[in-house]
Formats: sequence, structure tokens, C-alpha cells
Amino acid sequence: MNSAPILELHDVHYRWPGRASFALNVPDFAVRAGETVLLLGESGSGKSTLLSLICGTVTAQSGVVLVQGENLAKLTAAGRDRFRAEHIGVIFQQFNLLPFGSVLDNILLPLRFAPERRARVADPKTQAEQLIRSLGLPAELVQARAGKLSVGQQQRVAAARALIGNPSLIIADEPTSALDAATQATFLELLFAQSRANGTSLLMVSHDARLADHFDRVVEMSQIVRMQEVVT
Ligand code: ADP
Ligand code: MG
Repeated sequence: MNSAPILELHDVHYRWPGRASFALNVPDFAVRAGETVLLLGESGSGKSTLLSLICGTVTAQSGVVLVQGENLAKLTAAGRDRFRAEHIGVIFQQFNLLPFGSVLDNILLPLRFAPERRARVADPKTQAEQLIRSLGLPAELVQARAGKLSVGQQQRVAAARALIGNPSLIIADEPTSALDAATQATFLELLFAQSRANGTSLLMVSHDARLADHFDRVVEMSQIVRMQEVVT
């Protein structure tokens, strides 16, 4: 695959404010358009921090993070929020659904803050219903309260919310860690079928090497992170 990168990091340095004991240094890392990548690393190795840098919820002290060629550091904080809403689907470790909202409300939520993403689909409600079906959820669940669903169902709703409006990049933070092995495999197959159908790139982080077979490429955190002496 030779397609252009959807995501590039160059010489990125990040430290959490007030935390001298951890530093994330990424000399070079890229994900190509349409590629599915699993990034493996132990707990505490900086996987979630890296995803926060890619989402633009935190900004690197130095270096460049490009998403679709856009340098996130050059945007204002509000601009980064808007850019994320328009172009990145996010599946959080804890799913972060609104428990009192319906399944449909939760899936449509990202479109509220993203007019371009909203405009990419003719009818968002129809796409939400299609996603529910293709992710293996019963159609009548659209009106159910998200907080009433099982963990496996909530996770599929979180996936549908990331996929709605066809963002070019989906990032997922250990989204299968709460599921048993069989449910994990089904979930990944459904997520992959949906992202492949849209040509979406997928970057998932996990500590679980058993997920590797599903992905185009598997990368270890230790391969992309440069270790440095941390003075404490
Ligand atoms: P992983 O996702 O691989 O488990 P994290 O990125 O969550 O790793 O954590 C890497 C380091 O950054 C840890 O030392 C963790 O304590 C620290 N860290 C993570 N999130 C925050 C935060 N919001 N504020 C301060 N330190 C944080
Ligand atoms: Mg994490």
C-alpha cells in the first residue's frame, strides 16, 4: 500500500505538566490512508498519551503531529476541537456514552459539532440505523437508553458513534479490554468490515498481542518511542 499518510508524527516530545518522571519521545511514526494499525505497549508506556496528542486534546512541547496534513499545533484549542470532531472518530476505553441519552442520540452526537462531517452523509439517522444493523445490534435498540445496555452492546454503540459521518481516521484506546475473547473477535470483525467499506484508517492501541492477526500492521511502542534518561 502506497497511499499518502493520514497521520504523521515527527520528533514529538511530550511531558505531562508537573510530571517529571514520564516523557514521550516519538522520532517518526506514520499511518497510511486506509491502513489498520495495532500499537502494542505495556500499561504506562504512553499509549493513551500518544492518542491524546493525535486527537489534539493535548499538544506536544515540540515536534509535529499532522493529521490529514494538518499541523495540530498551528490550530487554536477551539480549532483542534473542531478538527477532531470533523475528521477523527474516537473509541474510548470506557466508551464515554451519555448514559441517559438514547442509542441514536449517542451515535449522532459527533455530528452536532461537525457540519462538514454531517454533510458527508445524506441522512444521518439512516446511516446510524445501518451502522447499528451492521454492528450486529437489534434495530429496536436505537431508542434504548445507552446506560441500560450490556458492555458489549455499549461498545458497539461507541464504534457506531466513531464511524458515523465517515471520518478518515478512527483511533481506539483498548476498546476490547472489557470483553471476553469471543465478543472481542466479533467486535473487531464488525469494526474492520465497516472501516474497510469506508476506506477509513484505524489506529488501535492495546496491551493485548492476541489482537494482532486482525491488523495490516502491528507496531510495538518500543519501536516508535525513543527512550531517554529521565531525571527525577
Ligand atoms: P498507557 O495508556 O500506555 O497505559 P498512559 O499514556 O496512560 O499509558 O500513561 C503514561 C504516563 O503518563 C504514566 O506515567 C501516567 O501516569 C502519565 N499520565 C497519563 N495521563 C496523565 C494525566 N492526565 N496527567 C498526568 N499524567 C498522566
Ligand atoms: Mg491507556
